[in-house]
Amino acid sequence: MERTLVILKPGCLQRGLIGEVISRFEKRGLKLVAMKMVQLDEEILKVHYAHLLDRTFFPWLRDGMMAAPVILCCWEGYSAVQVVRDMAGATKASKAVPGTIRGDYSLSAQENIVHTSDSLENAEIELKRFFVESDYCEYKSPLDPFKYAPDEY
Ligand code: UDP
Ligand code: MG
Repeated sequence: MERTLVILKPGCLQRGLIGEVISRFEKRGLKLVAMKMVQLDEEILKVHYAHLLDRTFFPWLRDGMMAAPVILCCWEGYSAVQVVRDMAGATKASKAVPGTIRGDYSLSAQENIVHTSDSLENAEIELKRFFVESDYCEYKSPLDPFKYAPDEY
């Protein structure tokens, strides 16, 4: 089963959308295996958004990500990385398709509610960035046979 990182951004928390967003992943059939609330700092954001460090908007993005705590989640499921990415929608939320998280809850390219890992390789790197092994909970999912074919989990 794949695992992917979702960060519920400060705007998600401040706007009272945490439950809405988590509920979408739950209803899709994804399994929550780790979760914590943290205040991000500049040091970790420079690493997490290293690909955007030289962009003029980086200081706005950094400050926005530090404006309130975030919720870090690890979701597990069949093809979880792409499924979660598709559920988030386009980065520029004004272009995101209705029915996606960004397409339903945001108009902004910056304040776009969630971070989602963009590949399996980056999901592994990002999960190691924010979680340690003891943060994960192993538990049985008795509904798996009702969610998946035998070769899907
Ligand atoms: N971002 C921004 N302006 C842009 C592009 C990106 O403020 O023109 C912010 C936005 O919050 C986005 C984050 O930088 O979610 C990371 O950008 P990336 O291209 O990795 O998009 P994502 O993977 O989040 O869709
Ligand atoms: Mg990205």
